Amino acid sequence: MGNIQKEMKLAKFGGSSALNPDTLVKHNPIGAQSIANAVSVLNSGRLSEFVGEWCDEFFGGTWVQKLEGKSAKLFQSQYAITVNSWTSGLVAAVGAIGIEPGDEIITTPYTMSATATSILHWNALPVFVDIDPRTYNIDVTKIEASITQRTRAILAVDIYGQPADMDEIKILARKYGLKVITDSAQSPGAKYKGKYAGTLSDIGGYSFNFHKHIHSGEGGICFTDDPDLALNLQLIRNHAEVVVATKGHNNYVNMLGHNFRMGELEASILTPQIGMLEIIVQRRNQLANLLNLHLSRNSGLELPIVAPDRTHAFYTYAMKIPRQEDSGVKRSEVAEALRCEGVPVAEGYQNIHLLPLYQKKIAYGSNGFPWSGTTNRREIDYSKGICPVAEEIHESRVLALGLCTYDFSDTQIEEIGFAFEKVWNYYYK
Ligand SMILES: *Cc1c(COP(=O)(O)O)cnc(C)c1O
Repeated sequence: MGNIQKEMKLAKFGGSSALNPDTLVKHNPIGAQSIANAVSVLNSGRLSEFVGEWCDEFFGGTWVQKLEGKSAKLFQSQYAITVNSWTSGLVAAVGAIGIEPGDEIITTPYTMSATATSILHWNALPVFVDIDPRTYNIDVTKIEASITQRTRAILAVDIYGQPADMDEIKILARKYGLKVITDSAQSPGAKYKGKYAGTLSDIGGYSFNFHKHIHSGEGGICFTDDPDLALNLQLIRNHAEVVVATKGHNNYVNMLGHNFRMGELEASILTPQIGMLEIIVQRRNQLANLLNLHLSRNSGLELPIVAPDRTHAFYTYAMKIPRQEDSGVKRSEVAEALRCEGVPVAEGYQNIHLLPLYQKKIAYGSNGFPWSGTTNRREIDYSKGICPVAEEIHESRVLALGLCTYDFSDTQIEEIGFAFEKVWNYYYK
C-alpha cells in the first residue's frame, strides 16, 4: 500500500495532485436552441427592436417581450422587466422606488460591488450592516439599530445563492415604512417559503452575466408585482426623460432615463435557458450534497447551512475553516495547498465598505459627493470594524468553490474530497 502513502503526500510538496485541472469543463448553459435562436435573430438583422418613444416597441422587441412573458409566468411575478445587466437592474430599482439624494439604504458589505454602487448612482448613501456568520446574508437582528430618519429602503442580497431572511426584513420594512429591494443575482431559481428568490420584495431580480447559472454574456431581469414600480423600471430602462410628457406621466422623480435595454440576441439566447434553470439549480444542489458527504469528516471545517424554509441555488459552495488562533494555520496556506491539488478555491469574497470608494468617500467629483453636500444630513461610518463578522469571514475564514464556474463531475467532487482529506491530514490532524 506504498502507493496510498505516496498519494497522501501534498502536491504542494511534490506529491501527485488529487484533481487534474485540465479535466475541468467550464459551465455552459448555451444549448442548441439558444444557438438556433441566435442564428435566426442574426439572419433577420433585427438585433434590437426597442424604440425610445411612446409605442409598443418602447417595451422591447419580439424576443425581449417573449422572454419577459415567459419569465413572469415561470417565476410567478406580475412583471418581469429585462435589462442589459443586473447592475443596470439594480440602478433602475433604486431609482424606481423614488429615492432622494442623501437618503440612506441599508445593505450588506459581503456582496458584489454593484449592490451598493446602485445606491450611490442616485446620490443616496449605502449603510452597511453586518452579516449572519451562518448564511453570510445580512444579519436581520442588526438592521434596526442602523435605521435612521433618512433610511428609505433595505437592499438585501441572497449571497452565494441562499435567499436572505425575507420575512424578518419585510416586518422591519413595514414597521419603518421602507421599501425592500433584493439582489438575487446569485440565487435564480432558489425558493423562500415556496416563492422564487427575487420575487419576494418590492423589486428583485437576477443577473444573466456570463458567470451566473444562466446567461447571455451580459443581461439581467427585474421582478415586481407593483404596476407603478414596473412602469418606473420600464421608463428608466429606456430614456424616460423623452417620453414622460407624451405618456402623461406626471411623476417626474428619477425620470432621468438610461439605456438599459436588452438586445434581441441576448433575449433569444436566454429564452430557452429559463426553462433549463431548474435542472441547472438541481445539479448544483446534487454537487453540494456530494461535497457535504465528502467533506464532513474534516474536523473543524464548517459546511454550508441551508435554512429549512428555503432552497439554495449554490452559485457558490462556501466553507469556514478553523480560526487561525485555534489551529495555528493560515488560510492562505490551506488555500494554496488545495490549489496545488487542483481545487479552484477562492479565499473570502469582498468587504465592499473597505474599498477606496468608501474609505476615501470619493464618488462623484473629488469633493466627497454625495456624502458631502447640502442633501447629506448624517456622517456615514465605513471604518474597518463596523462589520466585524463580514470582515473576519472575508479575511480569514471562508474558502469558496464556485459551482457555476465549472460543470464538476461526480468523480471530480470525489477528487476534491480527497484533496481536502490530504490537506486536512497535513494541517489539522
Ligand atoms: C453578478 C452580480 C451582480 C451584477 O450583475 P451583472 O449582471 O454582472 O451586472 C450584482 N450583485 C451580485 C450579488 C452579483 O453576484
